Formats: sequence, structure tokens, C-alpha cells
Amino acid sequence: MGHPVLSKMGGKLAELAISLHLPIKGIIKSTVFQQFCGGENIEECALRIDKLAQYHIKTILDYSVEGKASEKDFNRTMKQTLASLDFANKNKNIPFAVFKVTGVARFELLEKVNFGKVLSEEEQKEYDRALHRIDKICKKAFQYKIPVMIDAEESWIQDTIDGIVEDMMKEYNKQDAIVYNTLQMYRHDRLDYFKKAHNNSQHNGYFIGMKLVRGAYMEKENARAMRMGYPTPIQANKEASDRDYDLALEYACENINGISICAGTHNEESSQHLIQLMKLHEIEKSDSKIYFAQLLGMSDHISYNLAADGYNTMKYVPYGPVKDVLPYLIRRADENTSIAGQTSRELNLIIQEIKRRKT
Ligand SMILES: Cc1cc2nc3c(=O)[nH]c(=O)nc-3n(C[C@H](O)[C@H](O)[C@H](O)COP(=O)(O)OP(=O)(O)OC[C@H]3O[C@@H](n4cnc5c(N)ncnc54)[C@H](O)[C@@H]3O)c2cc1C
Repeated sequence: MGHPVLSKMGGKLAELAISLHLPIKGIIKSTVFQQFCGGENIEECALRIDKLAQYHIKTILDYSVEGKASEKDFNRTMKQTLASLDFANKNKNIPFAVFKVTGVARFELLEKVNFGKVLSEEEQKEYDRALHRIDKICKKAFQYKIPVMIDAEESWIQDTIDGIVEDMMKEYNKQDAIVYNTLQMYRHDRLDYFKKAHNNSQHNGYFIGMKLVRGAYMEKENARAMRMGYPTPIQANKEASDRDYDLALEYACENINGISICAGTHNEESSQHLIQLMKLHEIEKSDSKIYFAQLLGMSDHISYNLAADGYNTMKYVPYGPVKDVLPYLIRRADENTSIAGQTSRELNLIIQEIKRRKT
């Protein structure tokens, strides 16, 4: 990953080799998969979960199979998410579950709903089946009292997702935040949305849970807005995303009685900022309304230090068959390849620390 060209080629070659059924699973599994994934199934993740727990880091099991679009695949993702809830119910080191709506529903259908298009009878049935899957997951989370986070995705399906998640919150968050939505603070409208969602929850008597992230689809969002000639939903610059991220943390801490958050970030300043806000508002480090979360294989210096200091800290631990998590792995490789990428920064920190210990 230190070599951008090699890394780009590696991703393409891996995809090609897998599609040609070449025997490369072993090499992927012992390298990049090992770095970013917990295993090929839940059972294989057990060692990773225990290892993280030794350092007081909790796990969120994330079935990271992407780009599937058949009813069979959607049912499989639902079953995997339900299985992760069953597993979490027996394992105190798994405090949350997570899923993507596009894991259980067809993208194009969500997009149609997003733009208020009339669905055919068949499509309406398909949509009802998707809603049923989501409800089944949220209901089980409610029965177990294990919160479930729903990932944020592209802006042109996000209104649909927001509507579904709000309905789930109304149903299952009356006593506590069980269903969490995700806010991408790289969007300039999300701080407003956060406040409106909070007001709405107060009027209707339920709690809200929010995962706060900056957002993963910036290039795609900007490219689509440009291509189709509408104003991009993305903030004008990185500073604006950083500012709104920190303002969202502030808003949550000021209203902690009705809001639970998970700060999903690898940003050191935002993590520090949340620590300061917790001190300011006298929120206990172990208060279950605030969690910090990073992805497995990234920003260990943040996760391990937060956990050692007593803050609720989790790692997203992706799992799934090697060939099916390849898109996730390629995204991580791309993200970590850039000159200012996370891994090079982390590697530098490790090198510095080794030097420090030697002297
Ligand atoms: C636990 C966890 C869960 C996540 N879940 C989701 C999810 O559900 N949905 C999702 O979309 N992403 C999700 N992400 C990914 C996340 O959105 C970010 O892409 C990633 O974490 C990098 O942002 P950062 O806060 O860690 O740090 P930083 O490295 O400080 O920020 C990088 C981010 O800043 C933003 N940015 C960069 N340049 C600009 C610019 N010029 N203008 C405006 N903004 C800019 C982009 O969002 C970019 O990803 C998750 C991440 C984690 C750790």
C-alpha cells in the first residue's frame, strides 16, 4: 500500500484473478484480508474478538459482502445480521450490530422511492419485502436490547433510508436508543437534519441514536452532481466537514439525555474534541450513550489509547467470503494508498515509537 501504482494494479488483478477462478484466495487471506477482516464467517472472527477484548476494545461484526442484488442475497444478508445479533446476545464484547440498507434492498428501487416515483405492483411487493427484512432485524435488536446501526450511503438513496430509519426509531426507541441512523457530516445539510431529527424525536417521545461519520462517497457524489448539473451536497472543503463534525458532537453532548452517539472516525482531533466535550458536560467515560469506533486494521493508536483510558471503544470487524469482501478490501487499499493516507501516517507513528523504545 506504500506504492500507489502497485496497489491500484493489485486491486484490479485480484478482481480479474478471482473472476477467472485462479487460486489466489490464500495470498489475499494471509495479507490484506488478515489486516482488515475478522474472518470468512462469524465463528472465524472469535479469536479477533477475544484479542481486541483483552485490550477492552469491543467488536461490531459487519457482514461486508457488497454489490449483490438478488432476493437470495438480500435474505442472506438479513440472516447474517440476525446471526450477528444472536452471537452478540451471548458475547458481552459485541455491544452493537450493523447493516447497510442496500444489503437487504435493491439500490434502484430505493432510488425510485427517493424521488417519489410510483412503484409498480411488483415493485411495491419487493419494497414491502425489504421493509420486512429491516423490521425483522430491528425487532430482534429491540428484543435483545442490542442497538443496531444502519450505515449511511449515497445521497440519492439517503432520504429513503432516513425515512425507514425514522420509522424504526419511532417503533423501537421508546425506552432507549436501539436503532441508530448515520450522519455524513461531509454533507452541508446534515447538521440541520440532525437538529430536526432530534426535535422530531422529542415531539414524538422517542430517543435517537446517531453514528457520526464524515462520509465515504465524496468523489462519487461530486462526480454525479457535476454530470447531472445540480449543486453538490458535499461541503465546500475539508474544513467545513471537520467543523460540522465537531458541531454535531457538541450538539449531541449538549442534548445527551435524548441522543446516543457513536463517533465513527479516524480523526485524532475529533476524538480529542469529544473527550473534552465529555469532560465539559460531566459525561462518564463509560456512559453507554457515547461510543468511539474505528475500522479493524486502521487507527489502532486511537482505539487502543481510548480503550486503555476507559472510553467505550469498538472496532468494525468486517467478515465474509474472501471473494465477496474484495470490493471492501480494494476500498481500504485505495484509502490507505494516498500519500497522506492513514497507513503511512500510522506506520510513521510505529517507526517513531520503535525508535523511542530503543533509545
Ligand atoms: C466505524 C466507522 C463507521 C463508518 N460508517 C460509515 C457509513 O455508514 N457511511 C459512510 O459514508 N462512511 C462511513 N465511514 C467512513 C467515514 O465516512 C470516513 O470516510 C472515514 O472514516 C474517514 O473520515 P475520518 O473522520 O476518519 O477522518 P479524516 O481523515 O479527517 O477525514 C477524511 C474525510 O473528510 C471528508 N473530506 C475530505 N476532503 C474533503 C473535501 N475537500 N471537502 C469536504 N469533505 C472532505 C471525507 O468525508 C473524507 O472521507 C465509517 C467509518 C468508521 C470509522
